[in-house]
Amino acid sequence: TKGKNIMTAYTPALMRSKLRALELTSRLQLSVVNGMEGFRLVYQPFAHSKDLGLAGAEALLRWSGEPFGEVTPAEFIPLLESSGLIVPVGKWVLEQAVKTCKKWSDREPDFIMNVNISYLQMLDESFAGHVEKTLKENGLDSRHVVLELTESCFVTDMGGLKEIFRHLRGMRIQIAMDDFGTGYSSLGMLSQSPADIVKIDRLFIEAIDRDENVFNRSFIASVIKLCHSVGITVCVEGVEEQDELRAVCALEADSIQGYYISRPISPEAFEEKYWGSD
Ligand code: C2E
Ligand code: CA
Ligand code: CA
Ligand code: CA
Repeated sequence: TKGKNIMTAYTPALMRSKLRALELTSRLQLSVVNGMEGFRLVYQPFAHSKDLGLAGAEALLRWSGEPFGEVTPAEFIPLLESSGLIVPVGKWVLEQAVKTCKKWSDREPDFIMNVNISYLQMLDESFAGHVEKTLKENGLDSRHVVLELTESCFVTDMGGLKEIFRHLRGMRIQIAMDDFGTGYSSLGMLSQSPADIVKIDRLFIEAIDRDENVFNRSFIASVIKLCHSVGITVCVEGVEEQDELRAVCALEADSIQGYYISRPISPEAFEEKYWGSD
């Protein structure tokens, strides 16, 4: 009918999801105010593809709190971003990950810790200084740390981020382009990007071992070749099965991440898995 007004655009389901987002955002804010209560990090190892030996780990944020229970990052990260809370939370994530990395790199001299950084954190003018301070306070050499940025950071507004990239480069911090292939960057852009590492999104690994996936296989093969030709190393994400691993190794990726190696696990479980109990 013609009687459509603004209110009818909001279905009950949409109202409910907007309400949940609002309530969850204020609950997350409370967690931040209460000293990051309810936040924790889990760690997913990644391995050298040549021998599957431990290369490092990616720190992944988790949150749970009453009355919501455990909420997925896919839901709470966008809310942290839209509310600006990602800035203090991101600082906390970096500090925790650096502390853990200090401990683990004492056991594994070449251990690498990857930390996800939101675009909004990069825009915060205190960002590079905070990274520098955190490393210094924990006595961790910058070669152990990789900052993961989504592909969109490299495409949108590269100009605004150039200065920060320069600062990070000066500290010899490595940058990884995360979720490669899901955004708008082209293969050609890779050669000019400030990334040291490219992480190919798991979308492309899905069923890579099946014959009909010739497109994904050749896409990955091209990305790897091109990256190697300009000195960028490549991590393939989302390797879940042995056959996928075989297919990916044949394409000469440098490192492998995915459930086949391990799911993200608590720091205690990580230590138990790699260094046994003591
Ligand atoms: P991401 O950075 O691409 O992280 C990888 C995601 O893929 C993780 O999901 C991980 O659990 C999942 N994954 C790893 N291996 C496999 C696999 O073999 N199969 C499948 N199906 N999934 C796999 P998670 O932990 O739910 O995180 C989702 C996203 O949330 C992350 O995607 C990242 O964009 C964001 N995120 C997580 N922690 C942080 C953080 O501390 N800061 C920021 N800014 N974003 C974060
Ligand atoms: Ca990531
Ligand atoms: Ca990713
Ligand atoms: Ca699969």
